[in-house]
Parts: sequence; structure tokens; C-alpha cells
Amino acid sequence: MLLSGSNSFAQRNDAIVEGIVKEATENSQLEKLAHELLDVIGPRLVGSPQMQQANDWAVAKYKTWNISAKNEKWGEWRGWERGASHIDMVSPRVKSLEGMQLAWSPGTAGKTVTAEVVIVPDLADSLAFQKWLPTAKGKFVMISMYQPTGRPDYNWKEFATEESFEKMKKERDLQTEAWTKRIAKTGLNARSLPAALEKAGAAGIVMSYWSKGFGANKIFGANTKKIPTVDISLEDYGLLYRLAESGNTPKISVRADAKELGVVPTFNTIAEIKGTEKPDEYVILSAHFDSWDGGTGATDNGTGTIVMMEAMRILKKLYPNPKRTILVGHWGSEEQGLNGSRAFVEDHPEIVNNIQAVFNQDNGTGRVVNMAGQGFLNSYDYLTRWLSKVPEPIRKQIETKFPGAPGAGGSDFASFVAAGAPAFSLSSLNWSYGTYTWHTNRDTYDKIVFDDVRSNAILAAILAYEASEDPAKTSRDKSVLPLNSKGEPGVWPKPQKPTRRGGLD
Ligand SMILES: [Zn+2]
Repeated sequence: MLLSGSNSFAQRNDAIVEGIVKEATENSQLEKLAHELLDVIGPRLVGSPQMQQANDWAVAKYKTWNISAKNEKWGEWRGWERGASHIDMVSPRVKSLEGMQLAWSPGTAGKTVTAEVVIVPDLADSLAFQKWLPTAKGKFVMISMYQPTGRPDYNWKEFATEESFEKMKKERDLQTEAWTKRIAKTGLNARSLPAALEKAGAAGIVMSYWSKGFGANKIFGANTKKIPTVDISLEDYGLLYRLAESGNTPKISVRADAKELGVVPTFNTIAEIKGTEKPDEYVILSAHFDSWDGGTGATDNGTGTIVMMEAMRILKKLYPNPKRTILVGHWGSEEQGLNGSRAFVEDHPEIVNNIQAVFNQDNGTGRVVNMAGQGFLNSYDYLTRWLSKVPEPIRKQIETKFPGAPGAGGSDFASFVAAGAPAFSLSSLNWSYGTYTWHTNRDTYDKIVFDDVRSNAILAAILAYEASEDPAKTSRDKSVLPLNSKGEPGVWPKPQKPTRRGGLD
């Protein structure tokens, strides 16, 4: 009896795994989901109308798959909507520049502001800088270092002579050091310098946060309250910088549209397929939903988002009556400090205390190549058991590490680990994530590698299925951590408070 029972389970198990692969391969919804989310809705900055649209879109999408879903409020944020940015050089010649306002930048009130561009000067000390400040009035001030090369290092490595590459790096290091000193001597920092320039009556802040790849800049939030802060591509920033240095007095015109929308609510989108045998135990699929807004947040974290949505769709179709409840969390405001997931952990002890496993994906479009046990002593036991059911072409890509160390941050799994729940990161192959897409203006649909994303959707669905079916509840026993660099015993991370009211003074 026991033998035939386990045989039939094995057969059913194989049939469901096979079905998941078939559905994901032959009826993939990934391209459509990506298009609707990234191209139609766009980036999902916390507090923006697009974030709200994405929350509503996800709930509606789950409903079409007969999966119950809701938006759960966890906080409030400064409401802001990005409009168009136009930046043109108008003197000494005319050229449209590649650039955009930072998130939360004040707009130009429907006007085009034209003014000279100056470089933050290299002065003796903060006193001298304070004396200079009034001359910033009415001008755009450049506050980023001039990059000596617009070619990424890998390009130099491939084509430069070794001597020339070394020479460039040495010069760049010296220049970086000199620039750091120049800013330090103002007595201000990256945050307080724009504020001081604003107070002095500057027309706007011009910067360039090069991401060290062709065409890629990182776009974060502005530190000004009245004047626009714009980021300009390395090429155009360099042009303005050289013109300013050579005394050719560049002038630019900036029009930036932005709407302040007051205080708006922020949500996590939660959907679930109720468990039949152990409805109060949870398998959680996890991916943050928000993004920065220089691009469309395609790989951070559009891809993680559609992986989990697609996994849920497939599970509902092939495994509609799971043993345990399968819940998916699309978290808000991960980018400002894991806020949505930290709030969920704080608000739902009844779920967090009954988690079988959390699988989070949030480092790009690549296929999963690493999984670690996050310090849970017995994680090797259940994770390797579940992974053994994953088809070989996907499984063989994944390196495991046990017990590993508990992640204290980086993405939303850490919110759960801090609460002692077995939560894991499905860690992707990088596909030049850090340079080209992560938080950049180039994080767009075209960077998605759909075959890798498909593989991840299959993996997430199978792991959720196996974790749900496992006869045993997972162990939460924690490993003793090695001594830290100071020789003190390592300490497990503790739950952190989310920011429930953000961007508001
Ligand atoms: Zn992310």
C-alpha cells in the first residue's frame, strides 16, 4: 500500500511538473504581461499614478485568472507625477540634449528656463564657497565630475594598449580624488549642496550619474524643493563641461513638467490560491512591484513581477487546490528600504509565523543561478528535495550554498528572514545588470531575455508546488553565525520598521 501510494504521488508529481513546463512554454503570457506593465503603464515610482495603475492592473489580471487578489494599504507617500523633460543647449550652438529630470524634481511651472551653465568651482574652503554662492543666482550649476572617457572599462580592456588603459585609470583616479576634495571643500555633500544652490537662487541643478556603460545613467531622486534637478547623459554633460571650462559660456533651456499630487496611499498587491489541507500555512512568491523611473523598471523588477504572476497563473491552472495556501506578494516601495514587505511582515504575524517558504526574485532578467539557505540550518534538506524535482536543464544552472548567511537587506526576502521565516532569493545571472539596467534610464522592455524569464517562471511554479505538497513543515532552526570582523559573535538580523509615510516633510 505504502509503495503504491508513493508511486501514485510520484506519478502525479511528475505530471504536474511536466504540465507546468508545457504551459509555461506553449502558452507563455510573459511577453504580453511585460508589454502591458512596462510599455503601457510604465515605471512604478512609489507615490506615482503609474504605481497605482500597476496595482489595479495586477488585481484585474489575477481576477481574469480566477485568482483572488487585493491591494492592501500599508502607508502613504508624497504623490508626484513625472511629465516631459526637454533640455536643449542654445549657446554657443543649438543641440537637443539627452537628459531628464530626477524623480520628485520640481518642474518649471509650465515655462522654459534658459540660463548659463557653470561648474561648481574649486575653492579653498567653505568660507570661499559661501562667498561664491551668490554668483550661482540665475544659473544652472553642474555638480557631477567630468568623466575622462565615455567608454566602459571592458571596451578599454579589449582595445587599448595595456599602458594606455593603466594611464587612463590612474588619471581618472586622481581626477576622482580631486573632485571629491572640491565638493568636500564646499563644506556640503551630495544632499546639502543642491539645497544650498537652490537657496542661493540657482536656476537648476545639472548632474550626470554615469553608470559606466554606453548610454546608461542612473536616475534617482532630486534633493531640491523649488528648482529642477536634471540628469544629462555623459556625452552631453561632457560637452557642456568642456564648453564651460574653455570659456564658451554654454547656455541651456530646460522645461520640466511635474505634478505634485499631495499625500497618496501606497499598497502591496496580494493574491492567493487558498490551501485545501493546510490553508493556514503559506508558500509565498515574492517580488517587488515598484521601480525607479528613469526607464520602465523592466529588469528591476518587472521581470521578477511577471515571473511570479506567470507562476501563479500556471499554478491556478494545473494545481488549483494546493495543500497549503500559495500567496503572492507584489511589494510597494522596495527601492526606498523594503517598505512594503516590512509592513506586510509587521501587519501579518499570523501568516509570517506559518510560512513554509518564501521565494523572492529581484536581480534582473537572467536565469536563476544561485540559491542559498539564508542561514537556516536545515534548509539544505527541503530546498534540495524541492530542487530535485526541477527539470535538469533548469536545475543544473543553479549553484546552492548551505546553510549560507542570513541576508540583511538587498531585497524583500530579507524582511521575512529578519522575522525568522524561511525566505530565499532566486538569484539571477547578471546580464550586466549593475551597469546597464539597475536603476538606469536603459531599464526597458528590450533588455528582457524572455527565455531566461520563462525558465524562472517554471522554477518558481515548481518550487511553490513542491513546498506546498511537502508532507513536512519546514524547519526554522538557525545556524550559529561565524564571528564578525571584530571577533564578536555574528548576530541574526532583526525586523526593521518600514517607512509608512515617505517623501513628506
Ligand atoms: Zn529591485
